[in-house]
Amino acid sequence: MKQLLAQNPVDTKLYTGNREAWLNDVADFIYTKVKEEFVTNVPRENIKLSVGFMPNGAGSSAIGVCHYEGSSAGNYREIFIKPTLGASTLVECIETAQVVAHEVVHAMLPAKTGHGPKFARIIKNYLGAEGKPTATIAGPAFTLMIQKFILELGFLPHAKMTDPSPKTGGTTASVKCTDTECIGGTDKSYAQGFGMIFRVSIKVAKTVSNFRCPACAGHTIVELPEHVRDDYK
Ligand SMILES: [Zn+2]
Ligand SMILES: [Zn+2]
Repeated sequence: MKQLLAQNPVDTKLYTGNREAWLNDVADFIYTKVKEEFVTNVPRENIKLSVGFMPNGAGSSAIGVCHYEGSSAGNYREIFIKPTLGASTLVECIETAQVVAHEVVHAMLPAKTGHGPKFARIIKNYLGAEGKPTATIAGPAFTLMIQKFILELGFLPHAKMTDPSPKTGGTTASVKCTDTECIGGTDKSYAQGFGMIFRVSIKVAKTVSNFRCPACAGHTIVELPEHVRDDYK
């Protein structure tokens, strides 16, 4: 085993509870602040938070998610924050807090609100986050709003994870026609020495042994994404 390293720089104030408690403290702060100005019919105790990978796997590009009561046997709203988010600087903690805020705002609104105007008004105009409503970032106003609270709370006790299944390649395999005269190719594919290039799911790629090119019926090669190839070792 490798030696465990400090989760945060030693000269910073580390939160004394665990990660869930930190997320819940930030959620309390955001929930209270939003409730000062907006009506919600979702009680705070209905909303739970954890650090964890996204429902469609570690490779998902989403950094936070809110599941609604339809997905919960206990009728809770469940928020997950991706563990690839950092916590070793104040800026990183504020950005992680912003993801918490984004998901808490979802959790306080009816499920069908999505990233619509009501959502945007709260996360951007009121809480100060910036960017597209689907992918908000902290920005100066949000940072100003939460900075003092985070400094008093302490840093999230978490060492950033690297993605165990990076998005590159994702869940599909590339199938490449080896016939350079293939009528289904593109300038890009010809430049790589192939005819038509198309994608199939990894499951299909693993079960079908030889694909024929749909354009010219020529032979093909299958290229599985890196993380799947590793499985074969
Ligand atoms: Zn969202
Ligand atoms: Zn072909």
